[in-house]
Amino acid sequence: MKPIEDYVVSIPDFPEPGIIFRDVTSVLQDAEGLHLAIDLMQEKLEGLDFDVVVGPESRGFIFGVPIAYNLKKPFIPIRKKGKLPRETVSAEYELEYGTATIEMHKDAIKPGQRVVIIDDLIATGGTNEAMIHLIEGLGGKVVKTVFLMELAGLHGRDRLQGYDIDSVIVYP
Ligand code: 5GP
Repeated sequence: MKPIEDYVVSIPDFPEPGIIFRDVTSVLQDAEGLHLAIDLMQEKLEGLDFDVVVGPESRGFIFGVPIAYNLKKPFIPIRKKGKLPRETVSAEYELEYGTATIEMHKDAIKPGQRVVIIDDLIATGGTNEAMIHLIEGLGGKVVKTVFLMELAGLHGRDRLQGYDIDSVIVYP
């Protein structure tokens, strides 16, 4: 089996000149790549005591649900504004390209619950910071975030100091 890095296709100048886009779909469309990605992310949670998995739309769903299923934990979706049908809490944040608002159901996290966040990639860390804000606002404790990929040059970790961040693949 190839190393996980070999399944990621990097696309120069997408979606803007100067950006190297790390394409997660190239991992997903290969059965071994998909398996390896889930297994390696899940390994990062070995021995960790936690109650729920949270994942953001849409690629956080792809990795978060199989991990939650395997570990017999509930999965809480974080969605873009206006998609969730019941009462929500929301947070606005800056993206690498623009701004966005994310929402989570108000009853999704109970005070004191230990939360793991799963997502595909950390760039500036803005999405993760906003998710932590939502979870902590409901009384949850974020015990770890696991990413498949980390763009270390964008220093996402700097704004997440004090939080446990772990990535399977780190790009400089
Ligand atoms: P952040 O909030 O950390 O700046 O951005 C995280 C989100 O930006 C990721 O969940 C992902 O959807 C998107 N993103 C930014 N750069 C890339 C990239 O190079 N590849 C992929 N797949 N997603 C990216």
